[in-house]
Amino acid sequence: MLKVAKFGGSSLASSEQMAKVGAIVRADKSRRYVIDSAPGRRFSDDTKVTDLLYKCYDAAAGGENIDAKIDEIRGRYQEIVDGLKIKFDLDTEFAVIKDYFLRQAGRDYAASRGEYLNGKVLAAYLGFRFIDAAEVVLFDSHGNFDAERTNEVCRERLKNVEYAVIPGFYGSMPDGSIKTFSRGGSDITGSIVSRAVRANVYENWTDVSGCLVADPHIVEDPETIETITYRELRELSYMGASVLHEDAIFPVRVEGIPINIRNTNRPEDDGTMIVESTIKSPAHVITGVAGRKGFCSVNIDKAMMNSEIGFGRKVLQVFEENGISFEHTPSGIDTFSVIVHQSEFADKEQDVIAGLHRAVDPDHIYLESDLALIAIVGRGMKNAAGTAGRLMSALAGAGVNIKMIDQGSSELNIIVGVRNDDFKASIKAIYDEFVGKERK
Ligand code: ASP
Repeated sequence: MLKVAKFGGSSLASSEQMAKVGAIVRADKSRRYVIDSAPGRRFSDDTKVTDLLYKCYDAAAGGENIDAKIDEIRGRYQEIVDGLKIKFDLDTEFAVIKDYFLRQAGRDYAASRGEYLNGKVLAAYLGFRFIDAAEVVLFDSHGNFDAERTNEVCRERLKNVEYAVIPGFYGSMPDGSIKTFSRGGSDITGSIVSRAVRANVYENWTDVSGCLVADPHIVEDPETIETITYRELRELSYMGASVLHEDAIFPVRVEGIPINIRNTNRPEDDGTMIVESTIKSPAHVITGVAGRKGFCSVNIDKAMMNSEIGFGRKVLQVFEENGISFEHTPSGIDTFSVIVHQSEFADKEQDVIAGLHRAVDPDHIYLESDLALIAIVGRGMKNAAGTAGRLMSALAGAGVNIKMIDQGSSELNIIVGVRNDDFKASIKAIYDEFVGKERK
């Protein structure tokens, strides 16, 4: 058994949290490769070290004195080192960091120091080897992640290393400079290392006991999802459920390695397993529900449009020419609607209307704003009759007017469009129908 364990920022935010991480890693000898984040928030309005580093670097680039800012960051590590009672030379590390900041080594370099230093501290605490991610996570000269080279180099480098800490979030470019992934990117590093070492499982330790069926800010105490497929998770993440960085699925997917989301503060919980496929029946017809606000609908009426070949293409081309991506295109015999992000559309609405007139000569165009899209996702829906019916009646029962409905061809999801104002009531009603009722 071989496990890669990635710990998020809140799991490594203080010496107290680091001690929990130490206990988790030591409790299982198969946790051989540990990926760390930078120290995250210790309390709700705390600042992540990554953000402190960005600010400090920007101040340096603006010619300001950065001593106080460096001290603040150093203070975060000092607490960890002191609390864990380990010997660690922060003076030398921070002298180098300050020097590089003043020499303007780049914002990515700056941000990466959060993971780099935390990794060194954690390695010292665990007695593991520290391997710099700059050696094993590689980007090409255009700054794109080089998956195949990384996989080879990382596999080779770790072949004879039994226990190691590898910092998350960054790697290096061919010229040796540091490059980071987008925010939250330590999740990707965990996945990359899992693929390279062919781990049996990629454990992703965070501050929740797995993925929840619904947003806990909307539904009180929602159920945890026991098992979810990569595809279901992707649908839910796209619609706003945030557990893992979106790109973290791809490396492990190549090798079919499951991801286990676990809670550092409740290691006794099983968490959520994210898998390619499973014969395990889901606990409910739906695996999860998630949604996003801020969409609008561009509705185009034209008599007999259904017989006009190329109508849809011409409409979508107008959106393409205006640089707007579309989400859905519900259509009827004489109507065609395009659902888009309101923020992308707002500045261009009049250009789009004029463009549509030129392209398809419609009878009438009208816009509808402030819509929310809600996805109910579940591999169980394929074999369950009446899911759409239950969904409709749950929403009707909550007094919600459905503006649009779209069932994906994979039968993995049903998307409904409702007014922004009905968003929360809709999620609650859906949760109650498919999960809450069955729990009672
Ligand atoms: N520390 C980085 C961030 O705050 C990366 C990560 O935590 O995954 O985004």
